[in-house]
Amino acid sequence: MSVIIPKKSADEFFEKIKELSGQDIKLCMQCGTCSASCPMSEHMKCTPRKAIHLAQLGMDEMLHEQNTCWVCASCHTCSVRCPRGIDLARVMEAVRQLTLRKNENFIEPSKMTAEEIKNCPQIALVAGFRKLTS
Ligand code: SF4
Ligand code: SF4
Repeated sequence: MSVIIPKKSADEFFEKIKELSGQDIKLCMQCGTCSASCPMSEHMKCTPRKAIHLAQLGMDEMLHEQNTCWVCASCHTCSVRCPRGIDLARVMEAVRQLTLRKNENFIEPSKMTAEEIKNCPQIALVAGFRKLTS
């Protein structure tokens, strides 16, 4: 089944990503260097290369269903290695921001069990809440 993406909404999505990250995702040539370099890709439902492809197509709903930007550790390996000079770590941050700005959290602190809180290092909890909650 083919999916028809309205051009206007795709353009609006690129512009939003560009405004937040300063990056032009249209430059991506889908080489896959980012996915091959990413230390977190095995934990992602969708690799960094595929995530940027969804973003290029303006498929923001499908992109938000993936865990890619949340699992991204902001290590910047992809940004250093991208042959097109795209700072993909900043793109991932922009995608996270677009979700958090809708007041949608990736994790709900109130739903964590006492056992989970007890077992997490405090610094990890604070860092996680900063990154994953609005
Ligand atoms: S490394 Fe850069 S050009 Fe290659 S797929 Fe990733 S973002 Fe695109
Ligand atoms: S910045 Fe994120 S997407 Fe890029 S290599 Fe590191 S973990 Fe993977």
